[in-house]
Amino acid sequence: MGRLVLTVALSTLASLTLGGDRPNILFIMADDHAAHAISAYGSHVNQTPNIDHLAREGMLLESVFVTNSICTPSRATILTGQYSHLNGVPVFNRFDSSRMTVAKLLQQAGYYTGMIGKWHLGSDPAGFDRWEILPGQGAYTDPVFYTATGERRYTGRYVTDVITDLAIDFLKTRPKDKPFFVMVHHKAPHRPWEPDAAHRAQFANRWIPEPETFWDSYATRTDALHENQQRVADDLTRRDLKLEPPPDLPDAERASWLAEKPTTVTRAPDGQTPTLTGEALARWKYQRYMQDYLATIQCVDDGVGRLLAYLDSGGLAKDTIVIYTSDQGFFLGDHGLFDKRFMYEESLRMPFLVRWPGVIKPGTRSDAMALNVDFAPTFLDAAGLAVPADMQGRSLVPVVRGRTPADWRTSMYYRYYHDPGDHNTRAHYGVRTRTHKLIYFWKKDQWELFDLVNDPSELHNLYGQPGQVELTKMLKAELRRLKQAVRDDDQFADEQPPNGVDGPVAKLRGK
Ligand code: CA
Repeated sequence: MGRLVLTVALSTLASLTLGGDRPNILFIMADDHAAHAISAYGSHVNQTPNIDHLAREGMLLESVFVTNSICTPSRATILTGQYSHLNGVPVFNRFDSSRMTVAKLLQQAGYYTGMIGKWHLGSDPAGFDRWEILPGQGAYTDPVFYTATGERRYTGRYVTDVITDLAIDFLKTRPKDKPFFVMVHHKAPHRPWEPDAAHRAQFANRWIPEPETFWDSYATRTDALHENQQRVADDLTRRDLKLEPPPDLPDAERASWLAEKPTTVTRAPDGQTPTLTGEALARWKYQRYMQDYLATIQCVDDGVGRLLAYLDSGGLAKDTIVIYTSDQGFFLGDHGLFDKRFMYEESLRMPFLVRWPGVIKPGTRSDAMALNVDFAPTFLDAAGLAVPADMQGRSLVPVVRGRTPADWRTSMYYRYYHDPGDHNTRAHYGVRTRTHKLIYFWKKDQWELFDLVNDPSELHNLYGQPGQVELTKMLKAELRRLKQAVRDDDQFADEQPPNGVDGPVAKLRGK
């Protein structure tokens, strides 16, 4: 009898100290997956049945925004819960992995932690019991993965499938006496949008509707849109468009041929098809871009389905929070653009779907304004841990429970630094409220003001227009207030951005 009591007491102790009722966290993040390419968000261009599953069984957040719309900075923000100016990653610079991160805190609290897929922070992952990462951007086919002990090439395999396999292996082999936290970071649908053969075939002849703002003339907008080089019509390369180099081209010239931005394209080598130029060419480029972009997403969606099925078959689903998101939004021909960077809605908005059985009411939505600085505090709160004071976000746990606090934020601060960068996109900062957006391109001293209720596509810059004086004054005051509140002292305002973090992990290369 005494022995039985002791056994029960020990098992209770074990469940309290080792996890027990603490939820597992499966965080799936794609790279450059815009919310408007998810059917649960009302996509006009594709269907994502497996990602949608999370919306049906959990909550879809409608207003999640990135604080700096570019890959590496968003990843640093998600790990640290801090804006770029505090976590030291405003552009593509190396993350100092001695900094505190949510992974370290969860690991210290007894979580088994994992990082699978695209890392892109230039330093070794820290705070993870198991990590298998792509060097830099990684490759779509025959991908190499680095681990703490070596590297492995997956010859003949497609990156999205390998990441899903590794994530499932993480779940299978994890220690069963601990809760887990695993970040599954897909490379897809990042440029150059190279689908696997099956999904390429699925989209090869599909016609994708053009967005309403595809032919945006940028009238009323500042120099920034006119000067940017992320336009579908002008800035997609032959590599992006999957054009084949002439067969007799020497290898040395192949790379520069592929990097060219074509102004004419002859669609068929037999000469039967007319050479495309101007508007017809822009439309054709849009189709090529979107067919490939969406085909890579379809494989990610399949991978989400496989992970959810594994959680079901392994009896893990009820104890596991599953999140699907992307490191930022993306332009799908909106304003004639591809890529991200700008504070405009398509690039600013992150998809965020979360399932948490027994806590989140299935099929719910929230329009509470959430930010990527909130993710780390959310994971900690869900795990029953305190949120450190130097994290700038706020836990979304009350939001997803359907009890958004009365004092929840109604405005957000944004800042983008990578100017000129790869796309000649002008540095800017700004404020978005629930109804308006004010953007300041500080190197140009130019402003844009949008009424998001009456002009949700942000086509009409109201800055300096009659009748906007009071509104502009109010928004400038709010921008100043937020900038101070997040402690942005312009430290990186004049930063000359490097063009990329070092891809391979330093430790492995002996540097
Ligand atoms: Ca990205």
